[in-house]
Amino acid sequence: MSEHVLVINAGSSSLKYSLMDTGSGDAVASGLVEKIGEDQSHHVHHGPSGDAEDDQAVADHEAALEAAVRAFEKHGPALDSVDIVAVGHRVVHGGDRFAEPALVDNDLIAAVNDLVPLAPLHNPANLEGIEVARRLFPDLPHVAVFDTAFHQTLPPYAYTYAVPASWLDDYGIRRYGFHGTSHAFVSEQAARLLDRDPGEVNVIVLHLGNGCSATAVRAGKSVDTSMGMTPLEGLVMGTRSGDLDPAIHGHLARVADRTAEETDRALNKESGLKGLTGVNDFREVSRRRADGDESAQLAFDVYCYRLKKYIGAYYAVLGTVDAIVFTAGVGQNSAEVRAAALDGLESLGIHLDPARNADLGGVLAGAFVSTDDSPVAVLVIPTNEEWQIARQAVEVLSR
Ligand code: ADP
Repeated sequence: MSEHVLVINAGSSSLKYSLMDTGSGDAVASGLVEKIGEDQSHHVHHGPSGDAEDDQAVADHEAALEAAVRAFEKHGPALDSVDIVAVGHRVVHGGDRFAEPALVDNDLIAAVNDLVPLAPLHNPANLEGIEVARRLFPDLPHVAVFDTAFHQTLPPYAYTYAVPASWLDDYGIRRYGFHGTSHAFVSEQAARLLDRDPGEVNVIVLHLGNGCSATAVRAGKSVDTSMGMTPLEGLVMGTRSGDLDPAIHGHLARVADRTAEETDRALNKESGLKGLTGVNDFREVSRRRADGDESAQLAFDVYCYRLKKYIGAYYAVLGTVDAIVFTAGVGQNSAEVRAAALDGLESLGIHLDPARNADLGGVLAGAFVSTDDSPVAVLVIPTNEEWQIARQAVEVLSR
C-alpha cells in the first residue's frame, strides 16, 4: 500500500487540505473550506467519486477540520482505510531559524509564534491549523514545511538590505523570500526534464500565481529571490505592488495623512493588477486587454516589463542559465505573458518557439516551449506544492 500524507494549508479564513499519495504526487482527495467564521461558509471536497459542496456556517478552524474529516467519511476515502504516515503543514514564515522542514513540537510552535511580527497575516493562521490538527490527529507525527526555508541559502550580500545594520538584530529586517516549496519543486523537476542532476543546473524560476516571485537557483540552491522580508517585494502580483520606492510610505503619511497600516493594506490588497485595472484575476485582465481596454494593456505591460527586468537581473546573477521555468496559474497558462517577458532576449540565447508556446498540449509533466537549438531552455512546469510538502514530511520522519 502506498504511503499518504495529509497536507494542511490554513489561512486566516480558509483551510485547504489534500490527501497526497507520496509516490505518485496525486491528491487522492482534497478540499477547501472558505469564509470560516462568516454566516455562510463554503466547503468543497473533491473525492474519488466526484465533488461535494456544503454552504453551512463553519465557526472556526477546528470546525473546518472536523467538516473535512466528515467529508472524508461521507464522500471518501475513509481516513482509516488509507495508510497516512504524517500530517504536513504549510507554514509561511520560518525566519532564519528554519532552513529545513521540521517535526512539530512545543519548541517549534513557540519559534513560529516568535516569528508572528514578521508574518502577522500568515503565521497565526498556520499555527491555528497546526494546533487544531494535533488535537484531531494526536497519534500522527506533524511536520512543518516553511515557505522561506529554500531561500536560507541566499548569500548575505543578497539577503541584506542596505539599512542601519542594527535593524537586522533588532527587528529581523532582511530578505527571507517565499514560495520556496514551489521553487524547490519546480527547479528539481526542471533538472529532470533537462535530464541533468539538480546539483549541476542553473535555473530561473518564475512562479506567477496570485502571488508572484522569481528565484535564481544555482546548482539546486536558491541564491536570490524577488520577495523580501515579506511577500510584498518584487514582481507585480494580483493585489500586491511588488517593488516600489520606499519613500512612498512617508510621502503618503505627510500629504494624505495615511497611517502605516492603511498604506500597508493598500499595497498588499489594493495594488498590483487590481490597483491598475480594478480586478486581480489575470484571466479578466487578459479578456479586457483583448477588447482594447487601455488600463488592462498598461497593467499587462507593467507586469511583463517587471518580469523581464528580473529575468535579466537573475541572468547576470547566475552567469550561465540552463533554463527559465514558468509555473503557477499565470505562468502555466498565459502564452502571452511568456512571450512578452522573453521578447527581445534572443541575444541572451533565449529562443521561444511560438507554436510550442501557444499550444502546450498536456503539460502535466512539464513541457519545452523553446526551440530545439535554444541555448537556454524555456520550460512550463506545473507546480505541486502539496506533493513537495508530503515528500518533505516523509523525509523528516526518516531522519
Ligand atoms: P495561487 O497563488 O492562489 O495558488 P494560482 O497559481 O492558482 O494562484 O494562480 C491564480 C492566477 O492564475 C489568477 O490570476 C488566474 O487568473 C490565473 N490563471 C488561471 N488560469 C489562467 C489562464 N488560463 N490564463 C491566464 N491566467 C490564468
